[in-house]
Amino acid sequence: MDSGLSKQRIQFVKGIGPLRAGLLSRIGINTIKDALYYLPFRYEDRSSLKKICEIGVEGIETVKGKIISADIRRLRGRKSNIFELTVNDGTGILKCKWFNQPFMKKNFRTGQEVVLSGTVRRNAYPGGGLEIDNPEYEFLTEDRDSLIHMNRVVPVYRVTEGISQKQFRKIMFGIVDSHSDKFPDTIPPDIIERNNLPALDHSIRQVHFPEDNLNTDLFNKGISPYHKRLSFDELFMFELGLAVLKRNKNHDKGIAFNCPGNMQKGLLNILPFALTGAQKRVLADIIRDMQRPYPMHRLIQGDVGCGKTVIALLAMLNAVECGYQAALMAPTEILAEQHYINIHRMVEHLGLKLKLLTGSSKNRYPDNIASGEIDIIIGTHALIQEGVMFRNLGLAVIDEQHKFGVMQRTLLRKKGRNPDVLVMTATPIPRSLALTLYGDLDCSVIDEMPTGRKQIITRLFSSSQKPEIYGLLNDEIRKGKQAYVVYPAIEDSEKASLKSAIQGKEAFVKLFPEFRIGLLHGRMNTDERENIMASFKDRKIDILVCTTVIEVGVDVPDATVMLIIHAERFGLAQLHQLRGRVGRAADKSYCLLIAYEPLNEDAKQRLDIMVSSCDGFGIAEKDLAIRGPGEFLGIKQAGMPDLRIADLIRDLGILEAARTEAFNLIDRSPELKEFPSLKESLEVFWKGRVDLFITG
Ligand code: ADP
Ligand code: MG
Repeated sequence: MDSGLSKQRIQFVKGIGPLRAGLLSRIGINTIKDALYYLPFRYEDRSSLKKICEIGVEGIETVKGKIISADIRRLRGRKSNIFELTVNDGTGILKCKWFNQPFMKKNFRTGQEVVLSGTVRRNAYPGGGLEIDNPEYEFLTEDRDSLIHMNRVVPVYRVTEGISQKQFRKIMFGIVDSHSDKFPDTIPPDIIERNNLPALDHSIRQVHFPEDNLNTDLFNKGISPYHKRLSFDELFMFELGLAVLKRNKNHDKGIAFNCPGNMQKGLLNILPFALTGAQKRVLADIIRDMQRPYPMHRLIQGDVGCGKTVIALLAMLNAVECGYQAALMAPTEILAEQHYINIHRMVEHLGLKLKLLTGSSKNRYPDNIASGEIDIIIGTHALIQEGVMFRNLGLAVIDEQHKFGVMQRTLLRKKGRNPDVLVMTATPIPRSLALTLYGDLDCSVIDEMPTGRKQIITRLFSSSQKPEIYGLLNDEIRKGKQAYVVYPAIEDSEKASLKSAIQGKEAFVKLFPEFRIGLLHGRMNTDERENIMASFKDRKIDILVCTTVIEVGVDVPDATVMLIIHAERFGLAQLHQLRGRVGRAADKSYCLLIAYEPLNEDAKQRLDIMVSSCDGFGIAEKDLAIRGPGEFLGIKQAGMPDLRIADLIRDLGILEAARTEAFNLIDRSPELKEFPSLKESLEVFWKGRVDLFITG
């Protein structure tokens, strides 16, 4: 039923055909259903079309008038030109201007009736009239046009080149008119009723072509009852999938790790510190999970530097002592290497066999992992390559979870027979969002920093204040401390970023000829990087100039200065991560940000937040507010279904309601046997991501 209709190609709709279908496909519209769920990005209230004499300056206005002239003017002494359109509606005159687009002229003829909309301004010359630059325009030709495009709240869509706004709107009108009631509502009626949601077909019609007199603002913000209904549906499907995933896992048979914990004790005895209360609590959660005969799926959240690695290592030792292999997967090579070096140092005396496996490893499919000779495997995505075999993977740890997705997590899990899974993230996110993104996981938080850590002093400088910064750098290094100097990625160009770091290094060599300056960047091979990091750690380098390769995880206790060049180009989370590289011991530490003018609003906000707050959770929440959830969480990368309608921030309330309903439903009907059509649409929704109803 549903699936047949959802597959109906858009090409066969009257008036579309292969050419337009090709264009529509560029904006993700391939089927009729895609079109129905392609919502307007804004709405224009044309129900009260204004007279030219009534419109105000600075507002977005829509007027209808007759073209009285359409001419190209050359600007004297310059190579540019303006296409000018003048219309009259009997109450006044409005000028519209397009700069350097002389080809616009062919679209207009004097005497035509045209609808124009855009932001109105007054011409700066004394006595200047009203003008709109680059307005949207439409001609009303057919009778039906005034029904679709005028005298109502009109939808405005993101269109693609080759289809005009008006053509697109007309196509949508046709599709909505003939198909909006063809899709059965698969959500159980009691859920719809409990949440006071309007009917699906009605909602689809209303989000495209609103008919009732609701405030247009609600539509523009995406919070009309009809928008809420569609957001609910989407979030419900999302949560329902998570509920199924979580249920599957809880009912799998897993490994019960029961051993005395001698290896853990062995490590704890040689650690130069005692675990914090929060670390002990989280470790206890993990060990308890591991003892149970079901697979563990636990998320550890904790700010940079709270000490997640040692907890992961203790869990891995628990698995190894019970005779299983453990794997740790990190998002970058340098981080994997760092983990490898650290862990190697910590467990050397326990006689364990470790292996590092990354994209640059010579042998990508080592036999000694398959044979079981290796106890702990540390690596990158290379771990989940098809040919990599384990003998008996018992625990899979994923570091920096937000850089991976459900799919990758699943792939690592499938390297063993229902192994325990531990995922760690330093990107703390608000609880409700965590529930959604990691909604199939149990969650523990390390909410305490090791004692003796001093707050890091964060200061913002302009480029003219460099002497002050160099003074501070000089003082610290003379005290025997070390510094990082980080250069940004420039326009995603690794080359340019590399160049700036190399030049930066030379500049620092000249500035501080008596200090030892090192350079670290992503183009170096593993050995070189390891050597540099090792010399920095051994205090053979005073100032380490680098690109962002050091972003996560790298740990050097004597480094007390983090100098970030072009701080305005970094994201908030990234800045906070970088700051976490210093302040790793009891010494006073500094995070110095140099920002270059001009700063945009976002950059100013980010830098202000950095200076005023050191709290990872607070920062993450603000970052989320500035960037929006899509970019913040990298949902696309995370392998989750795309949210096309709902917005995780705006619709948080709906999310929570949808989550409760979804989890309750799966409790009542684990396999959705009583809801075959819902089950079918659920599988369509999650298609290509996870096989919900195949356990494994
Ligand atoms: P993150 O949570 O950011 O991954 P790490 O695990 O890298 O943090 O730990 C940061 C540093 O703190 C490491 O040098 C680690 O050895 C140290 N550390 C971890 N736990 C403690 C503790 N309880 N007391 C003191 N230092 C600790
Ligand atoms: Mg870490």
